[in-house]
Amino acid sequence: MHITTRAIILKKIPYGENDLVVTFFGREEGRLSGMAKSARVSQRRFGGSLELGSIVDLRYVPRAASNMVRLEDAIISTPTVGVMLSLDRIKAMSRAIELALAFLPERQSAPEKFDLMEDYITFLSRQEPDVSSIIAFELKWLSLVGYGPSLERCMTCGGEAGTVWSFSMDHGGVICKKCVRPSARRMDLRDQALEGMRRLSSGDGALLNESDGRTIQGILAGYVQHLLGRPLPCRMISEGW
Ligand SMILES: [Zn+2]
Repeated sequence: MHITTRAIILKKIPYGENDLVVTFFGREEGRLSGMAKSARVSQRRFGGSLELGSIVDLRYVPRAASNMVRLEDAIISTPTVGVMLSLDRIKAMSRAIELALAFLPERQSAPEKFDLMEDYITFLSRQEPDVSSIIAFELKWLSLVGYGPSLERCMTCGGEAGTVWSFSMDHGGVICKKCVRPSARRMDLRDQALEGMRRLSSGDGALLNESDGRTIQGILAGYVQHLLGRPLPCRMISEGW
């Protein structure tokens, strides 16, 4: 029995002389891995469709005795050629793929997360990402996987006013200046940056200045590292992809 699914290619590992083990994000299946037989030597069934980040219509056969499915063929829907036009786009897509690999459980249907990821990769294939759109995507992703940061008021005292805040990794949200403990794992941010983060988190647009954008990206990188217990790898870049 064949199953056809819309999928995003997340990872591929050479296997033997001819084959590839491919991890993909299926809209209905969630994260799955499959064997693509002869994909390294023949272009016939897969063509260039197994590039990381490609959005494809994938056909596969489930295998009862194995966690791994058998990939039959794939047709590209959105190629990554547009993403390859700049390092900023490649970096943004690479990070999105790593977030998917890190936070998606195996075999758990996640259409809403899929749609977010598909829209973001399609966006990156068409235009340069500005810092606001990168942050908006990450905040939305974290919220969908259950780790959306709490940004409305101090998580310790409930206070709402302040000019300087700290993002506490342990709390997963902001705390005010008077509640900060010196030992807390935290990163500071100004009121204006927090306001931008709130707007992006709620789906409103926000134009961040460069310094606030960098601060928020640093906070999100630190927060993700805290959640995973390790930094998010940047595989495509490090592999010269
Ligand atoms: Zn407080």
